[in-house]
Amino acid sequence: MKPIAKSSKLANVGYDIRGPVLDKARQMEEEGQRIIKLNIGNVAAFGLMPPDEIVRDMIHNLPSQVAAGYTDSKGLFAPRKAVVHYTQEKRISGVTVDDVYLGNGASELIAMSMNALLDAGDEVLIPSPDYPLHTAVVSLSGGTPVHYRCDEGSGWLPDLDDIRAKVSANTKAIVVINPNNPTGALYPVDLLKDIVEIARQHQLIVFADEIYDKTLYDGNEHTSIASLADDVLFVTFNGLSKNYRSCGYRSGWMVVSGEKRYAKDYIEGLNMLASMRLCANTPGQMAIQTALGGYQSIKDLVAPGGRLLKQRDLAWEMMNAIPGVSVVKPKAALYMFPRLDPKVYPIADDQQFAYELLEQERVLIVQGTGFNWPDPDHFRLVFLPNLDDLTEAIGRIERFLAGYRKR
Ligand code: PLP
Repeated sequence: MKPIAKSSKLANVGYDIRGPVLDKARQMEEEGQRIIKLNIGNVAAFGLMPPDEIVRDMIHNLPSQVAAGYTDSKGLFAPRKAVVHYTQEKRISGVTVDDVYLGNGASELIAMSMNALLDAGDEVLIPSPDYPLHTAVVSLSGGTPVHYRCDEGSGWLPDLDDIRAKVSANTKAIVVINPNNPTGALYPVDLLKDIVEIARQHQLIVFADEIYDKTLYDGNEHTSIASLADDVLFVTFNGLSKNYRSCGYRSGWMVVSGEKRYAKDYIEGLNMLASMRLCANTPGQMAIQTALGGYQSIKDLVAPGGRLLKQRDLAWEMMNAIPGVSVVKPKAALYMFPRLDPKVYPIADDQQFAYELLEQERVLIVQGTGFNWPDPDHFRLVFLPNLDDLTEAIGRIERFLAGYRKR
């Protein structure tokens, strides 16, 4: 038989968070080894379960939802209305139910938003490092990802000069991930305004991934970039996966706001793609209304004394204490992106580095280049495991690095 090859569309598409190192980890687990996982933001896997109120409502609603069948392709009215109210809280103006799309997680909608927009040769500005879905879907949609650098020296804020230098006649849009995965950065309002100004000057769409907008430490507040202008087109993504610890419910939303008058054709494209997949799962849709109307977000876990805050502090202190390692303290989200000084750790291939760490110490991380970071000198650490597991895991990383220094 002829070998069956994957499509050429996938040539530049990668998603290393679930790549070959994870395959090795699976194999080791099948052999009975226990691995400490600092690799993905799957909150439920670390005992952070969805709020009771959401679970109870989900159970209550399940029989009638199944009976109700498909919904409108953008989603049910009531949860979309709840999202409209949420945009009002976030001071995004002019949003109606018509501008809200519900999806099977934000991921589906991120892919939809790029598929509806891009032709061959179109460029999209994406942060480096990024949450790699954005780069992958731009490539899959036929566009070209162009990475702008985030500056570790300034707390991983986007480098505005680099953004300006990379805008070309083909640039269609800019992706802003705030709060950021993988760095934990939270962007100040002035910086967001500067990004809006660049978008305004060059007529770029702003794609704002704000899925961690309630996962904030140290009393920090989040500003939605879409609240800062009416004369730029914004597409904002959010959902229940992180702020409401409900990633298994696959429930997210997308809001189109700002200058919609010139975007009729694009919006038609979005509507068509939304109809083609019929609708998002209905139990997940219904959970949105309960979540946004209630009080059981992630707030208690990130507040003083909260589990996530303690874990962030411990991981940050322990990582920074390792010779040749430095880490910007995350202000938000569930991740940090430590730097391994290349003079101390001359790593040529960071996937190999992650592989060896897994084999030798049974700790799973994702290498920095998996987040479209150009150099093999970073990795992402997820601080979701409890304090004991984090202490054990970072102790093992320290031991591994000590061995690496002696090579
Ligand atoms: N955006 C960012 C920045 C993420 O970190 C993730 C998941 O880790 C997603 C989107 C995907 O979210 P969802 O579970 O809603 O598809």
